[in-house]
Amino acid sequence: MRRPAKLSLLPVLLIAGVALLGAAVQSERKAASVPPPSPKYIFIFLSDGAGITHMEITRMYSRIIHNEGLNVVDKIMKQGSIGLMTTHAANSLSTDSAAAATALASGCKAKIGAIGSCEDGTIPKTVLEIAKENGMRIGLITNSTLYDASPAAFAGHVPDRTLYGPIVDQYLKLEPDLLMGGGRDEFLPRSQPGSRRKDDSDMIGAFVKRGYVYVADKNELARARGAKVLGLFSLGEISFEIDRHGTNEPSVSDMTRAAIRRLEEGNRSGFVLFIEDEHVDSAAHLLDIASLIQEYREFDRAVGVGYEFYLRHPEETLILVTSDHEIGGLGFTQALEELSVVNRKRIAATEQDFKKIQSIKISLKKAAEILGPNPTAEAVDQLMRDHFNGFIMAPDLKNMLLNKQVVARNLYTNPVVNCLGLMIANNIQAYWGTTAHTNQPVFVAALGVGSERFRGYQDNTDFAKHLFALLKKKMVAREAER
Ligand SMILES: [Zn+2]
Repeated sequence: MRRPAKLSLLPVLLIAGVALLGAAVQSERKAASVPPPSPKYIFIFLSDGAGITHMEITRMYSRIIHNEGLNVVDKIMKQGSIGLMTTHAANSLSTDSAAAATALASGCKAKIGAIGSCEDGTIPKTVLEIAKENGMRIGLITNSTLYDASPAAFAGHVPDRTLYGPIVDQYLKLEPDLLMGGGRDEFLPRSQPGSRRKDDSDMIGAFVKRGYVYVADKNELARARGAKVLGLFSLGEISFEIDRHGTNEPSVSDMTRAAIRRLEEGNRSGFVLFIEDEHVDSAAHLLDIASLIQEYREFDRAVGVGYEFYLRHPEETLILVTSDHEIGGLGFTQALEELSVVNRKRIAATEQDFKKIQSIKISLKKAAEILGPNPTAEAVDQLMRDHFNGFIMAPDLKNMLLNKQVVARNLYTNPVVNCLGLMIANNIQAYWGTTAHTNQPVFVAALGVGSERFRGYQDNTDFAKHLFALLKKKMVAREAER
């Protein structure tokens, strides 16, 4: 009875085999004639200064304190791919944001301080410039000043990152569809209060003449209409996330949401959107771990807004999440209970330390402002009672603060702020190696069309090269359509 049943399977298997072969040939033919897809919508999320540890500390903080995950880890890394990138500059093992962003935007190594200018002096095109030539819409978002190094290197070319006026002038020439961030001071004519321009050009007026809608606060941004938007939400940098509540400044995720609304409207040719959270870097320069965590959490919310867009257009979107360099050599550690050769008892950082961090509600920048330029012992005691309840300031550190003493050769930002940062670190078993950038590699998480290119260990210049290849492919496909 079994034999006929076995025999009857043969024709079925044969048919299935032929069908499979046919499908393989067909897909091979398809691969030969149709180029693999290239993304129509590209998000470049850059957390300035964020190393792997900064992300990991924030991930654990979010889980322990808020019972939440991170979009970067749970969505982008888990569903997409992950790679590591070098960060060194052409002339330094430890890069700055100008050289690093030039590598990411233009695919060449640059010297420290150079914006959109390669080591050999050539002026390369940036990813955003090529996207615009392709007919795509482009945008820059940051909570730093818009003329700061990272956004500048994606849309401008100057030999020195401090040439802020010329950077703004170049934005006007390039006309990115969206510009949102801080730094109104470089857009105001010299005669106006708050201006830091060296000439009398009214740059806001010049953008409006080109058809831009100008918005200056969170509410105006939410109501903004039109294809081109210039949003300048503060004279200098937008406040740290930890201090931003109570201001009219939008968050990075607010700006990302508004940008998507503007870019989506009647957009058939796609976009490349650069979104930066600058303040992981700014906070780490000050050894301010509480601000740093709040900043990375906000950066992650912005990535979440990008991910929601991806879910609506999964076949056409590429999301990239990366950083330009690490800063601080930050980590948790085990430490001796006291500075003694007799007592060898060690204490380790625990989940309780996150609760202590959670109790801090102001940035160290704000704390130093409260202390004023010449802090007294009483003012320090009052500050500790008001804002760092449960923290202890060691007497030697307090003396250093009062004397505004530089703590170490590599801790040089501001002695008062540095002492406050070390006070917090000592109370939670965290350590900082430096107030400056390090040469650690950074991760690049990628999700969507073309994400596989960013996998593995690569140079930071490869980041731009992959984007150039994807944009070129898109251009070829468009030409073929015509
Ligand atoms: Zn920095």
